[in-house]
Amino acid sequence: MPQNSDTSAGMEICPDCGARVPVSDLPGHAYLGASPGCWAVYGEVLAREYSDARYFAVHQLTVDAYAAQHPGKPERRSIQSVGVHLVALYQALELDFSPAQIVAARKASASNRAFVWLDPPPPDDGALTINDVVSAEDAAEHGRLVRAWAESVWRHWAPHHEQVRAWSAALS
Ligand SMILES: [Zn+2]
Repeated sequence: MPQNSDTSAGMEICPDCGARVPVSDLPGHAYLGASPGCWAVYGEVLAREYSDARYFAVHQLTVDAYAAQHPGKPERRSIQSVGVHLVALYQALELDFSPAQIVAARKASASNRAFVWLDPPPPDDGALTINDVVSAEDAAEHGRLVRAWAESVWRHWAPHHEQVRAWSAALS
């Protein structure tokens, strides 16, 4: 049966990433700005990564891209989350840090108290989201999509790149 193109019933738009996702009754996240439906799609992607090493190869980028794309509202935990995950995206994408280096850097970053709130640029229409990632048909496509998504999230934060680079330099 063809899908109804009017999907407004039972669907919602995630306020932070703009993805159209099924309405979910599951709890969302305490401080990421993800709708419960978007958070549920992210859970599917994580389950796939945890169950298959070929998918897990890009797990770090998945976590950092998702958190950076869902900054939420200004409060201590979200400030910390956005800071940690933007520093990690920068280190992975511009400095070519390995996942192991990023995990080590994250330990320093997690206790950093210098992070401040960065006003998130408004979501782009048609931005890559977790919806694109979940549609991957195999691990190679998953890896490509996660990389493209992470790069687009990092570009989206361009007004704050200088600040993020300075945080990364101060932490290393
Ligand atoms: Zn979302």
